[in-house]
Formats: sequence, C-alpha cells, structure tokens
Amino acid sequence: MIPLVDLKAQHQQLRSEIHSAVARVIDNTQFALGPDVAAFEERFASYCHARHCIAVNSGTSALHLALLTAGVGLGDEVITVAMTFVATTAAILYCGAKPVFVDVDPVSRTLNPKLIEAAITPRTKAIVPVHLHGLMADMDAIVSIARRHNLVVIEDAAQAHGAEYKGRRAGSIGDFGCFSFYPAKNLGACGEGGAVVCNHSELARHVALLRDWGQEAKYNHVLAGYNYRMDGIQGAILNVKMNHIEAWTDARRAAASEYDRLLDAHSYRRPAPPSHSRHVYHVYAIEVPQRDDVLAALHAAGIGAGIHYPVPVHLQKAYANLGYGIGDLPVTELLAKQFLSLPMYPELQPKQIVEIISELKAVLIAA
Ligand SMILES: *Cc1c(COP(=O)(O)O)cnc(C)c1O
Repeated sequence: MIPLVDLKAQHQQLRSEIHSAVARVIDNTQFALGPDVAAFEERFASYCHARHCIAVNSGTSALHLALLTAGVGLGDEVITVAMTFVATTAAILYCGAKPVFVDVDPVSRTLNPKLIEAAITPRTKAIVPVHLHGLMADMDAIVSIARRHNLVVIEDAAQAHGAEYKGRRAGSIGDFGCFSFYPAKNLGACGEGGAVVCNHSELARHVALLRDWGQEAKYNHVLAGYNYRMDGIQGAILNVKMNHIEAWTDARRAAASEYDRLLDAHSYRRPAPPSHSRHVYHVYAIEVPQRDDVLAALHAAGIGAGIHYPVPVHLQKAYANLGYGIGDLPVTELLAKQFLSLPMYPELQPKQIVEIISELKAVLIAA
C-alpha cells in the first residue's frame, strides 16, 4: 500500500522536536500570536523573498484579508480560475465581490493570460492567479495586464511554498501572496494556518490589523476586523518545520524527475514546467483518458492516487448561482475529467515510484 500523501513519515522524523516546541508554548502560555509566531513571520518572509509576512489561521483567511486590503468589496469583480480548491472563490465571495472565471492554459494548467483582457470590465478590481500543484502561473504576462488596467494581483500560493518564476519566489511578485499551512500542504502545521506576504509596509500593516480585530492597541479598534490570528503552537511547530522545507522540496522534485524518467516512453501528459520555473510538486498530476477506471484499478492495486480537482468550482452546486455551466471553461473541464494525481511526498522512495509506474502501466494496458 502506497498512500497519496504520508504525513506520519514526516512527523516521525521530527517527533521530539515538535513535542518540545509544543510543550514550551503550553508552559509559556503564548497561545495566540506571540514570539514563536513573530519569529515564524520573519523566517517565512525571508524564505519568500518578501519584506513582510502576516501569519493567520488559514489560507482562506489569508486570501480574504489580502482581498479586503486590496479594496475588493461589494459589486467588484475578481478574475480567477475554476481549476482550484473552492477557497479561492469563497474568499472573493466573502468580500461581497463576484468571481469571474477565466480558463487555464492546457500546458501550465494555470490562469491563461491570453484570456484575461476579454474578461476585464469597469468593475474588475483584482486578478487571483493560482499556482496549481506547485507551478507558478505566467506572472510576467499577468502582472503586465494588471498594471495596464490598474488591477491588484493576489497570488494564491497555497500549493507553492518556495516555487520560483524567473528566480523570484511565489508570493513575492504580486501585490500579495497567500499561503496555507493546512497539514497536507508542502509546509504544514499540526492544525490550521496561513500567511499573507507582501512588500508594501502600509498594506502589511492593514492586513495585520484586520487579522486581530482591527486593534491598534488593546481595545482600540480602528478597523472592523476579524479573529484570524495564528495559534502560538502552530507558529512554534512551523519554526521547527522551516528547517526542513528546502530538503523536502528537493525530495519532491527528485521524486518528480523519477516519475518523468519512467513515464518518458508514454504519451500521457505530465507536468511540463518551463525552464525558468521551479515547480515544487505539491501534486504530480498526469492526464489520462478513462481516468475513473484507471483510478479505481490503482486503488485496487494499493496505490493511493487522487484527483485535484474532479469537479471545477464553476460546476459545483454551491456556486451554481454564479451562472456558469458545462462548456464555459473547456480546458478546465477536460483537465477535471483527465487529471490523475500520483502519490507525492518527500519520503516517497525511488523503488516505490518504480512500483507505482509498473502498476500504472499494467492498469493502462488493461483499460
Ligand atoms: C489549501 C488551499 C487553499 C485554502 O487553504 P486553507 O488553509 O485550507 O484555508 C486555498 N487555495 C488553494 C489553491 C489551496 O490549495
């Protein structure tokens, strides 16, 4: 049995370090924000090549606060993709704004810059590209369109810790970068967590105020804010994990190149990062026809494959009132039918990858 993701493998290595970090916070009682969270913010900002980091309680909260700080509100439109986790769309709706979906590029699987301008209206306020599976969207093209139309760019980097585009890190190119530390993400808390990074000190201050009830000083509320603070315990655990993120990313990239090598003789589409990009392989997804049969056969063979994502946001029942339907986003819809995520985590061994690919070949021949 090879799982899709294996959190236990990672936690076994760090067991005693994590336990003592948690014990330390319980003893010092700095449970909400506090010195460990502040230390994490400093380290994560520098890791992202960004000036500021504001730690929050989830990736969804990070997106919500970045959008609010960008001035997105009632009646505004925000351009994004439907090939993502629903949180990207939900955060836009939390602001009272309308998500406007643009199709993705079939090779990068991220926001297609060629389709953005046709979706811009006088109400458009921001663009939210999603660095799907750990590959950064085409940021030069997106930022240049945004500058031309005076739009804010908010990177959804929830799957892209440490990813690079022309030597620049995820989260540092747009006006804001939003990260998630949900346990299964490339950098995961032992619970929920998230962060906003940005380079502008006034905007960073606004995000930090909104995160903690808009308090400039205790009981002095200058903005109508939220309780989106990061837990002290999560900050302490994330500081332990920051020591390993580069090694884990290298291990994910090594696993991906082993998949690439073994899949070379096959015509199935697989991740195709441009040479100027550092893909961090939160997910390694191939595209196969008859995907559902292939997935069931892999599960029967003990291979934990998955789908990211089987139903795009514009076709989810919860968002039917946005008015989209089948056929509106053809590339997104085809990817949703064909995407197949293979097991991916830093501790995945080369001989497991050989086993996964030989099972996959057997399944594909039978299909
Ligand atoms: C995980 C994820 C989010 C939401 O993060 P949470 O921490 O779960 O709130 C947002 N966008 C994308 C692309 C994600 O993968």
